[in-house]
Amino acid sequence: MNYILPNVNVFVQGKFVNSNIFIMDGLISKISTTKPSYSSDMIFFDMEGCFVFPGFIDVHVHLREPGFFYKETIEAGTKAAAHGGYTAVCTMPNLSPTPDSRENLALQLEIIKKNACIHVHPYGTISVGENGEEFAAYDEIAEDVCGFSDDGKGVQNDDFMRSAMKKISKYGKIIAAHCEDNTLLHGGYIHDGEYAALHGHKGICSASEWKQIERDLALVKETGCKYHVCHVSTKESVALIRKAKADGIDVTCETGPHYLVMNDHMLQEDGRFKMNPPIRSEADRLALIEGIKDGTIDMIATDHAPHSAEEKSKGLAGSMMGVVGLETAFPVLYTELVQTKIITLEKLIELLHTNPRERFGIGTPLEVGQPADFTVFDLNKRYTINPEEFLSMGRSTPFAGKEVAACCELTLCGGNIAYQRR
Ligand SMILES: [Zn+2]
Repeated sequence: MNYILPNVNVFVQGKFVNSNIFIMDGLISKISTTKPSYSSDMIFFDMEGCFVFPGFIDVHVHLREPGFFYKETIEAGTKAAAHGGYTAVCTMPNLSPTPDSRENLALQLEIIKKNACIHVHPYGTISVGENGEEFAAYDEIAEDVCGFSDDGKGVQNDDFMRSAMKKISKYGKIIAAHCEDNTLLHGGYIHDGEYAALHGHKGICSASEWKQIERDLALVKETGCKYHVCHVSTKESVALIRKAKADGIDVTCETGPHYLVMNDHMLQEDGRFKMNPPIRSEADRLALIEGIKDGTIDMIATDHAPHSAEEKSKGLAGSMMGVVGLETAFPVLYTELVQTKIITLEKLIELLHTNPRERFGIGTPLEVGQPADFTVFDLNKRYTINPEEFLSMGRSTPFAGKEVAACCELTLCGGNIAYQRR
């Protein structure tokens, strides 16, 4: 199918140009500023004045299949991603079975092939069943995975992590590490700060995150492994990664939208405010913003982690860890960081597309001859986030009821319509 979008603001080589964009046979065939000529075989999208971004890339999502289809499916999760402007996601391996062998990974690849409406790149596990003790069958799965992770759990044993880094570097693959030292958790479930103290909750200290990042950075220096830190949430983590980068260590990192726009004073007695790592203090939030600005933090990933309504109904203490994020990330970040002039729109596109593309080698730029993987947003449309309108099966988000700007109008993946607003 051939399409044309006239008079839209297209992100071309780092800046926005008012242009017409043409799609033919799944590829971007022309981006031009001259008056377009139409032919009868073209479908015309009337989205004048909207912004066309390269498809966003989320390197950290949980699509729950195989194993937990009552929380989310690859079909619903990729539809939700397209609704959020994403055309590529990397899926975390805390599944059943875990993708630690060719046989187990094949189950997931089959569902992706059948049901995904955008590109889905699975991670393989670092250890069998994420047990932190036996190495996954790297040689069997390295070719088909975007990297290795035991997300949901930190790798506790130093020697095991060192050996895993040595083995995985041989395949040129990245380790995306969920950093969490179990000996420092003490049953905590929200940030160990003022809110927890005031309301009698058990806190998760910042050291449980940054201590393991500190250990891993030393191991990366020793082994030369390509390394990425998942969901950075503390000021100490930002400082450690900043220093490691200055020392030439091969490290990148991500943080999530909720860590950038919320602090623990904004928590409510509701499971939709519970995720791991937890929403931290204002000082941590400001350090993350600084990390975004100076390039210490390379990308924003949602850690989209759907659960059933029942699993999220047990308050802060009893609910499961994780919130959904694919359908709210861009509107929330645009409203809270770009409209407030904390960062530019161009910078936000770097964080959501360019940097994850370059680091993980997935996705394609918005250029003539490249696949038509892009998304169109109306930046003037304001609305209130209503989880009942999500395409994800998960509904639990701290952003419910929040008024935002930026409404997704259309997402194309490979020239196919992955999302179109009705
Ligand atoms: Zn994690």
